[in-house]
Amino acid sequence: MATATAPGAVGELIRQRKLFIDGEFVDAQSGKTFGVINPGTGAEMCRVAEADKADIDAATKAARRAFESGPYPKMSNRDRGRMLSRIAALIMENREELARLESLDNGKPIGETMNVDIPASAATFEYYAGWADKLEGSVIPVDGNNLNYTRLEPVGVVGQIIPWNFPLLMLAWKIAPAICGGNTIVMKPAEQTPLSALRFAELCAEAGVPPGVVNIVPGFGETAGAAISGHPDIDKVAFTGEWKTGQIIMRAAAGTLKRISLELGGKSPNIVFDDADIPSAIAGAMGGIFFNAGEVCCAGSRLFVQSGIHKEFVQEFAHQANSIKVGDPLDETTQQGAQVSKEQFEKILGYIDIGKNEDKAELACGGERVGDTGYFIRPTIFDGVTNDMRIAREEIFGPVVSAIDFADEEAVIAEGNKTMYGLAAGVWTKDIKKAHRVAHGLRAGTVWINTYNAFDAASPFGGFKYSGFGRENGKAALELYTQVKSIWVNMD
Ligand code: NAP
Ligand code: MG
Repeated sequence: MATATAPGAVGELIRQRKLFIDGEFVDAQSGKTFGVINPGTGAEMCRVAEADKADIDAATKAARRAFESGPYPKMSNRDRGRMLSRIAALIMENREELARLESLDNGKPIGETMNVDIPASAATFEYYAGWADKLEGSVIPVDGNNLNYTRLEPVGVVGQIIPWNFPLLMLAWKIAPAICGGNTIVMKPAEQTPLSALRFAELCAEAGVPPGVVNIVPGFGETAGAAISGHPDIDKVAFTGEWKTGQIIMRAAAGTLKRISLELGGKSPNIVFDDADIPSAIAGAMGGIFFNAGEVCCAGSRLFVQSGIHKEFVQEFAHQANSIKVGDPLDETTQQGAQVSKEQFEKILGYIDIGKNEDKAELACGGERVGDTGYFIRPTIFDGVTNDMRIAREEIFGPVVSAIDFADEEAVIAEGNKTMYGLAAGVWTKDIKKAHRVAHGLRAGTVWINTYNAFDAASPFGGFKYSGFGRENGKAALELYTQVKSIWVNMD
């Protein structure tokens, strides 16, 4: 795995290591920095400026100024759309560089960053570029001789806190609709993966985004993140991450009555009926849990397989899982890269131990690390799992799936819903009526029928229950970043 760490190459690739505030790259006011680790090797690649409260204050001041004065509030909606289009084009022009940076920082395979993360991030900006000049209000027929109409206005300065599993894509899901609506932004990337966000900041400047509109402030959750969620001059917080952090953010936001939207975790049921097309269901089970090394909030981590096919299905699934090529994130033939951090790696191995210690659960494949450097884990399947086991209840966020047996439709809807979460679900069957019945019965924000992990910038995504509230992507996300103003005109 030497290619990932050739010092010259990495040094050149990491162009920006400072905070981006008011259109400039600056050191943290405290002068502090933190180390950025390559999860493929466990070695530190560089140090990045560490924002805390004072820097969040400076970023918020810049964002407020840019919201109220200068070119941005005067910019027409169509020009904001053009700016978003330029960002999309710049992401694609720098696709290879961004993909390498993302693979080094997060550990995901270059084939995925090239073909999924980076193009999907660009597509999100393209999609919202198209919405900017279509944010229409309405004219409302009211009593009396009055004209009443509505306008969609920005929320103001928005704080955005994102996780490490899709660093650039999570940034795009938050920044694109926020700019579309005319807001300004203070964004904290995850401490594990700040690099693509800092390169993105440079691209914003190149795209002509006015200073202060986008501020990128890497740092830790307990300091920089907390300063955002409690800041008196931030109007809204959008967060993706763990539900417990979501709770902390909700409490902090209550003090200043911020609007909030939360995209939290999941323990999604992926349900395979006896009458499914088996090869595609196995492919769906594979992608459902092993895509992005299982570090996916909507991962199909509870695999319900009906009794009639259960044994053979899990056998073939394990056979295919064993053939996944785990290794160097920068090797184009790699199918599964590294887990993002030592902490995450150890957490996953801890859950694997918990699974091994369950009497009734049976290890069908995997169950160990790969190699002795970096944070690689073999795709792992436990069979014979029941919904009450910890490995079926808690979010592992790694390449570990629990296969659960079920008898019939009614039972699997009940069991599928027996979770605190409600982010996503999958249903595999050739019976179209059953597919829709089950999709309607599952309490989840997204249900995939005969597919899994299908995404589009145009389609809303978000959770039921402890998976959060608010919808990202699609027209729905614009509701998070605009507010309605009603205007009355006396026509007498
Ligand atoms: P997390 O702690 O919720 O982190 C998400 C973001 O929130 C990070 O930017 C984090 O900063 C920040 N944060 C942490 N504490 C905060 C606070 N008190 N106030 C404001 N912001 C705060 O998640 P994590 O530690 O990265 O991962 C833990 C688990 O969360 C994972 O194992 C997984 O189960 C789940 N997770 C879910 C998703 C998802 O998409 N739903 C994504 C990632 C992780 P730091 O960078 O300093 O942590
Ligand atoms: Mg954390």
